[in-house]
Amino acid sequence: MTENNKPPIAILGAGLTGMSAAHHLGGDARDYVVYERLGHVGGHAITLEERGYRFDRTGHLLHLRDPDIKKWVGKMFGEGHLLHIHRRSLVFSHGRYTRYPYQANTFGLPPEVAFECLKGYLEARAKQWDKAPENFEEFCLQHFGEGFSKHFMIPYNARLWGVHPREITAEWCSRFVPMPKLDDVLAGAVGLNDRELGYNAAFLYPPTGIQELPDAMAKDIAGIELNRAPSKIDWKNKRLHFADGSAHDYRALITTAPLKAFCEQLVDAPDAVRDAANKLRCNRLWYLDVATHKPVQKDLHWAYVPEEKYPFYRIGCYSNFSAKLAPEGGSCFYVELADRSEPDMSTLRPRVARDMVEMGLITSVDDVSFMSPRKIEYAYVVFDHEYFSALAVIKPFLEANNIISHGRYGAWNYSSMEDALIYGREAAGRAREMLR
Ligand SMILES: Cc1cc2nc3c(=O)[nH]c(=O)nc-3n(C[C@H](O)[C@H](O)[C@H](O)COP(=O)(O)OP(=O)(O)OC[C@H]3O[C@@H](n4cnc5c(N)ncnc54)[C@H](O)[C@@H]3O)c2cc1C
Repeated sequence: MTENNKPPIAILGAGLTGMSAAHHLGGDARDYVVYERLGHVGGHAITLEERGYRFDRTGHLLHLRDPDIKKWVGKMFGEGHLLHIHRRSLVFSHGRYTRYPYQANTFGLPPEVAFECLKGYLEARAKQWDKAPENFEEFCLQHFGEGFSKHFMIPYNARLWGVHPREITAEWCSRFVPMPKLDDVLAGAVGLNDRELGYNAAFLYPPTGIQELPDAMAKDIAGIELNRAPSKIDWKNKRLHFADGSAHDYRALITTAPLKAFCEQLVDAPDAVRDAANKLRCNRLWYLDVATHKPVQKDLHWAYVPEEKYPFYRIGCYSNFSAKLAPEGGSCFYVELADRSEPDMSTLRPRVARDMVEMGLITSVDDVSFMSPRKIEYAYVVFDHEYFSALAVIKPFLEANNIISHGRYGAWNYSSMEDALIYGREAAGRAREMLR
């Protein structure tokens, strides 16, 4: 215990990272306390229920690679509970579907588009590039060529990240962008590809929605205080202050709060840290929960939509992940909007319904029972050209003051649920070292 008789480790956030940290600290509430700002656990990995339909905060599929994390998740759910699903993801472009990734599946596109993509790809391969790509646009042009960049990579990524790919560094993407070999591109052009490419070709999913994961994690964690977040952080004295006048003296602080917001709460932060935090950028996401009273008409999990004439860049069908997510005979979808401002539903609702008919997902606009707009305030960190230098100032400062900022928004990166579980494990290890 610390001077004011509180556990020596304070954890901010009961999302997957914060709860994984608590789990890896050994589940003893004398060692730590988890403060969660909201009234529930799970952070971004939750499931909302509306009129009998269940919606995650857009698609949340679990890909596990780390052996210990696999074992832990397996133990939490028991044999056979999680659904094992092979990805069925498509791209909707030029009025037709091709398989994902676009760059290895041009078969079925209008011949002139496929030709432009293949020609650009071969030209890019043949060219001697005299410098490494300086931004994500250059990365696309060098690796995929002009056609793929024009028809998919640039418009899709601009809509996903909310900024033009030239504003983003090339470093972030190697893990997430499928890099097909020449054989894959050629085979995909003549319809010969018989395997899914990319890091997420298969995934696990809890039958009633991703909320099952944080709920299962929370069961073996004592010491989660909901609706409680510090109002300011006195890093010099290692003390959290709360609005009710109480305080918590910690010896190590694990924070999974969005890094920029966290830095704003630091009392008398050095100017360099404050300036660096001001440079961090993250885009919000508006999306729609869509419910229909008819079955979905296409056997897909999600479709990427690069063309700007559609207001969304991706549509996914939850009830194709698990039939338990919609009442019998109905289906439910997420529709991720390209525009970052609050949608005007009076014009958007009929437009999206029409587009869903055009995409063959539903038979008629009358199939739609309801569409609810939702916002994710922190969705996509922008890997712009200030990103690495800003983090290089903030992170060492925090670590030197026994503050471990981890998690997708704590570490300020683009990462998965499995990463969050791993980050929690890492944060627990570092906190233990700080107590020694
Ligand atoms: C649109 C979208 C789709 C995604 N799809 C997938 C997917 O398909 N597969 C996948 O693996 N991952 C996916 N992810 C990523 C996944 O959601 C995250 O990696 C993971 O949930 C991050 O967990 P976290 O605990 O680090 O952060 P969070 O989930 O953000 O949790 C942080 C918690 O801290 C709380 N908090 C914030 N500030 C404070 C404070 N000051 N004090 C106390 N508490 C605080 C918050 O309320 C929250 O509960 C997706 C993310 C998004 C945004």
